[in-house]
Amino acid sequence: MSKKKVKELLKELDKRIDKMQSSKEFKKYLKFFSKFHDYSYRNILLIKMQRPDASLVAGYKQWQEKFNRHVKKGEEGIMILAPYKYKKKVTELKKETVEGNIIEKEVKKEKEFLSFRSVYVFDVSQTKGDAIPAWDIEIKNENKKTLKPLLNFTNKLGITVEFKSLREALKGYSKGGKIIINGKLNDTEKVVVLAHEIAHEMLHQSNDDQGLTKEIVELEAEAVSFLVSEYFNIDNPSERYLALYKKSYNLMKSFKRINEVSQDIINGILELI
Ligand SMILES: [Zn+2]
Repeated sequence: MSKKKVKELLKELDKRIDKMQSSKEFKKYLKFFSKFHDYSYRNILLIKMQRPDASLVAGYKQWQEKFNRHVKKGEEGIMILAPYKYKKKVTELKKETVEGNIIEKEVKKEKEFLSFRSVYVFDVSQTKGDAIPAWDIEIKNENKKTLKPLLNFTNKLGITVEFKSLREALKGYSKGGKIIINGKLNDTEKVVVLAHEIAHEMLHQSNDDQGLTKEIVELEAEAVSFLVSEYFNIDNPSERYLALYKKSYNLMKSFKRINEVSQDIINGILELI
């Protein structure tokens, strides 16, 4: 694929992301999720320790009032710590000068203290009721000939690929030398996800690339997947995924990196097809 074509496609992707982010559907989705509370780092740890697969949590009443969902009977809550303030009367000693002598006097005062109490929250899987808006990224299985050569190319790079049963929203991840793909995806989706994860392997697993923000890392990986998809005529709605990540980064800043990796993958597939 020519550099000119890559540039054109990246501009096109950028436009599509902007359009997606200003769509009603996306705004509705964001509005829904903004109703969830941002938990402190400590509480996130507490939640993950008790329920590693938790994805959306809220208190018993919040599920009812904000989301019209109910905690199912018999579900055990996840304990977190909520700060609260309380007032208490304390006696302090105050120094006073009376006729040239310093004396200490007891003064009663009301003081405010901060403490924590345990409260319970519940994961979405423990509740039922109104539907949770989904941000689906499904791709029709229209390309059946690209997966095999792409898998062979991945092996040639020294990266092993494993297909596992993952929760639905998780398509795959890269672990450095190893890529895990959700086995439930169809072959075309597997190509798209594998290209994304290979880009992570090639661009983000070495030490000198540490420190890139999540926004940049996801934009680079998905742009590679988008270019590979375009080349092999796969209709990959990358803008849906990237709408969740893009803030202000200009894709063109990563042109060289994205271009190199996509060309490598495309040529790798072509050689093995
Ligand atoms: Zn990624």
